[in-house]
Amino acid sequence: MLEIDGQDGGGQLLRTALALSLCTGESFRMERIRARRARPGLMRQHLTAVQAASQVGAAQVSGAEPGATTLEFIPGPIRGGDYHWPIGTAGSTTLVLQTVLPALWLAGQPARLRLEGGTHNPLAPSADFLAESFLPLLRRMGLGVSLQLERHGFYPVGGGALLLEVAASEKPAPLHLPERGALCGLSATALMSSVPGRVGERELDAVRRRLPIADEHRHIRQATGSPGPGNALMVRVESAEVCELFTAFGERGVSAERVGELVCDEVRSYLDSGVAVGPYLADQLLLPLALAGAGSFSTQTPTSHARTNAALIEKFLPVQIDFEEQQHDRWQVTVSS
Ligand code: ATP
Repeated sequence: MLEIDGQDGGGQLLRTALALSLCTGESFRMERIRARRARPGLMRQHLTAVQAASQVGAAQVSGAEPGATTLEFIPGPIRGGDYHWPIGTAGSTTLVLQTVLPALWLAGQPARLRLEGGTHNPLAPSADFLAESFLPLLRRMGLGVSLQLERHGFYPVGGGALLLEVAASEKPAPLHLPERGALCGLSATALMSSVPGRVGERELDAVRRRLPIADEHRHIRQATGSPGPGNALMVRVESAEVCELFTAFGERGVSAERVGELVCDEVRSYLDSGVAVGPYLADQLLLPLALAGAGSFSTQTPTSHARTNAALIEKFLPVQIDFEEQQHDRWQVTVSS
């Protein structure tokens, strides 16, 4: 059983451990889970990921209690099939989905997941990010997958729904993204649920002042079926090799102009760096590349999420992950066996 010290990471470290444990069949015991967070230990959204992982992998679990700081996870065989996880409130559906997706990829059987909760949460990949950015790269690596957003769910009310179908797929193939390639399109979308349209207009105006996005590529989109209010401002950067989606969320006390500025700052630093993969996609791609046994990409300065994910992946899988700085805010990440 692998012993993992959870104090250097947060919920992400736990989710990566669950995913790796399912994929490798290796048990783990994690101590000091989220020890440096304001409220340490397992919170509801982490427990949902544990529960989902234990169902997919018929696992024996001990310690899965609210606030617990130690968890033991002993996986059994991975099973495809139908799963329904009503996470409740706005717990992130996408983070739960990412916890079990690698295992379902390796299962060699089709699976169908229905997840209910938040689909557009701050501090998590949005359903649009998965659809536009993350999943297309996994498809290139051999995963047969389709994602349907049935209902939007925003923090704090949630109530969104995602349907994910995974086909019996080839095992992950290596992916190399040295460059992003030529820029093919820049667009901005203000996603609104029960928020006045003029807020979206002001956000898009702030984007227009900072990025060269033509009028016909700036849109206001009404969220479908969301039971609660919410607003996300998304900028899509489509290049020949990769599509990146950057998001900022509207919230009380933050002006529409500020929301516009925040997303544009992320887009600008990605565009200026010239790299293929932005900081969020970077930490999320490491695990699929490690399952493939090889891969590489250029990215911006690695985040602590990327570093801790890499160190954990090296514990479970016979791979080495190297981070090499090439110039200011341009790094090469290489996964090798
Ligand atoms: P916690 O603070 O709950 O302990 P944590 O700090 O480890 O958790 P999480 O917030 O659980 O991290 O995980 C964040 C995950 O969400 C990362 O994989 C990150 O790449 C992803 N993420 C966060 N914001 C975005 C975004 N705007 N776009 C895409 N992905 C995002």
